[in-house]
Amino acid sequence: MVAGEVGRPGIRGPGKYALLGFPVRHSVSPQMQGAAFRWAGIPASYELIEVPPDQLGAVVARLRDQAYAGWNVTVPHKENVLNCVDEVTPEARAAGSVNTVVNRDGILRGHSTDGYGLEAAVRESFGLDVPGRRFLFVGAGGAARATAVWFAQLGAAEVRIVNRTLGKAERIAERIRAVAPGCTVRCVAGAEPAGVVSALSGVDVVIQATSLGLHADDPLPLDVALLLPGMAVMDMIYRRTPFLLEAARRGCRIADGRGMLLHQGARSFELWTGCSAPVAEMRAGLEAAVAARA
Ligand code: NDP
Repeated sequence: MVAGEVGRPGIRGPGKYALLGFPVRHSVSPQMQGAAFRWAGIPASYELIEVPPDQLGAVVARLRDQAYAGWNVTVPHKENVLNCVDEVTPEARAAGSVNTVVNRDGILRGHSTDGYGLEAAVRESFGLDVPGRRFLFVGAGGAARATAVWFAQLGAAEVRIVNRTLGKAERIAERIRAVAPGCTVRCVAGAEPAGVVSALSGVDVVIQATSLGLHADDPLPLDVALLLPGMAVMDMIYRRTPFLLEAARRGCRIADGRGMLLHQGARSFELWTGCSAPVAEMRAGLEAAVAARA
């Protein structure tokens, strides 16, 4: 990234961009990235492309052939896309996940910006930097893995993971031990109340990283009665979920996933263009798109 180059067209960046996922219709990334490209004066398009799981390789080949400048990748492709690009950054390799691809003269490089996005969101929402802190991740899917590994590598003192399926949490723990041996890591099965109480003890931030809360009839991902007033609670889902609202009722400080979405997207923009991201404009684009759906 080159500070001071915001708004200077023509250095890097004009072209076609996209988000690959399945489904992707709900995404607000086009409005967020569109606001950034417009503000920077970069002529660019950003489209949503529905990619069924068995077509990822073919779609990536097509985007390369058609000289797309870059694209984002979301569920369920963030892991499989590692096999479709030419290079993977060490961070993305450690996270086992790619959410941003940069196409430089036909060479595809995969990056992971989810960890950065969560890191920036935690700083912005709670005034906390990751090094030396303790984090509890609720969930052990792809988003939890990418961000928990990033936090461990940044110097988090401790990462705790509560998940319905203990084995998935343990696989993240193995990865953390391999890439960040200085970080203490502990896993708890979601169905063990005593373990969950102990996992909550002394944490700086609780990060809700399951997909529970996307649908009205979802159960809560954690017994909210275990949350204490003053706790910092973030939900990766980018609206106020029933879990977050309950946490707020119990006196917790809360933030939803919009900050993470914003900052991971800002970093993608910087990787594509080499320009500092216009974060305020991107936030306005994101907020307008979210409000339009409410
Ligand atoms: P995955 O499908 O990879 O993981 C889903 C997680 O939810 C697993 O831990 C799974 O547990 C858990 N889960 C699902 N159903 C239940 C249930 N009924 N009871 C208990 N646990 C359950 O999803 P991702 O990791 O990719 O995404 C997780 C969330 O994060 C999504 O809501 C997504 O929208 C959000 N997200 C937000 C981002 C942002 O920028 N704000 C970026 C990326 C993701 P188990 O392992 O037991 O199956």
